[in-house]
Amino acid sequence: MATYEEKSSYCKDCDKKVLKKRKGTNHLLHLILSFLTAGIWIIVWILTAIKFGGWYCSICGSKKVS
Ligand SMILES: [Zn+2]
Repeated sequence: MATYEEKSSYCKDCDKKVLKKRKGTNHLLHLILSFLTAGIWIIVWILTAIKFGGWYCSICGSKKVS
């Protein structure tokens, strides 16, 4: 289950205003899993938030967005 956040931004590779995207974290799902695993899942939650936190251009996929 993937959710996406979108924001308007400027892409250096496209050289124009674009929509930037990043994968959103399903915090409700992680909260439930944390309860079920007595808090162990919090480690996975944090790692997921770090790994998938990067913004990228929705046109070319470049990470050079402001
Ligand atoms: Zn771009």
